[in-house]
Amino acid sequence: MTSKEQVISRLALSPIGPTPVFPRDLTLGLDALNISTGEIFKNEYNADLAAKAVLALQKTTHHDAVIGCIHSAGFDVESFGGEMGYPERGIPHVQRHPFSSPDNFYKFKERKYDYSQVVRSYNIVKSNSSDLAVFGNLEAPVTRAGIYRGLENLMMDLNLDQTFAREIVELGVERATEYIEKLAKNQSVDAIFFAAASDNPDMIGPETYESITLKYMYQLIKKIHDFGLPVVFHPHGNFSSDELSSTLDKTIDLGIDGFQFAEQNDHNVILQHTKNRCCILGGINVTDSLLLGPDRRIINDCNRYMNDLYNENYIFMCSCSLHRGISIKNVKTMVDAVKSFKLT
Ligand SMILES: [Zn+2]
Repeated sequence: MTSKEQVISRLALSPIGPTPVFPRDLTLGLDALNISTGEIFKNEYNADLAAKAVLALQKTTHHDAVIGCIHSAGFDVESFGGEMGYPERGIPHVQRHPFSSPDNFYKFKERKYDYSQVVRSYNIVKSNSSDLAVFGNLEAPVTRAGIYRGLENLMMDLNLDQTFAREIVELGVERATEYIEKLAKNQSVDAIFFAAASDNPDMIGPETYESITLKYMYQLIKKIHDFGLPVVFHPHGNFSSDELSSTLDKTIDLGIDGFQFAEQNDHNVILQHTKNRCCILGGINVTDSLLLGPDRRIINDCNRYMNDLYNENYIFMCSCSLHRGISIKNVKTMVDAVKSFKLT
């Protein structure tokens, strides 16, 4: 049985084999190759090197699912007139949000980022690792709009008058759809993952989460399912709280194939909602546990989740994505702990 079968069977609600591990490594592969961030992003996206970095990390840590590129949340920021920063050993970040001024939105909104090289990285990863599950990583509607507009501005728009916010969200959904189409038509991925740090009902309020995030996620999910691909959704927020109980049910009712709980969630409560409806994903805290160690703590934390979720329809992840700067040795400790886990 392959890693890919372990992952995809879980998203299809019929788990086979042991619990697979998906660390959602977005830039950590750069440390595996010991190269600067600019080498991937500074000129045209370096697909060969990006794919090599993703595969080098996987060969060291032996996880079951990967993101098939070195990811930037701001792939299309510069095409819209914004500015990105690529620190030598750091994470790509937005230096100037392209639509911080509404004028720029109307001036630049027709422009498009050409995802061809990024898709090529996915293709190289996929053709060199047919046993692994390859996820396409994208930002969910409000999260993407926050990158374009700047989060503070977007929060103000959402609170005062949602018209402009919705225009930005809709542009983002359109661009995300085009990217997904490219990935799907090239058969570059086995599933789609939506990162959604700002699609957080504790931050934007459950009403806005439902009227914007869920509305546009529904459209995206329908499209992705038409391509025959499963979808995992990872909104931030405490969905195990009583206040968000019905919001969690509405999220699962979108037809998602997997729900990844973020930090501060009680996984046993989330499980009550996901059971028989979709796969549950999540696990140890990135900043408290994985970043700091030591090994004993990482292993204990992994065992805690595995004890509760081992017999469930579960894919082990961390609480959020992995970036360069996290110890690869700690990631290996985590993967080994999950793979050697025995229920006592
Ligand atoms: Zn996250």
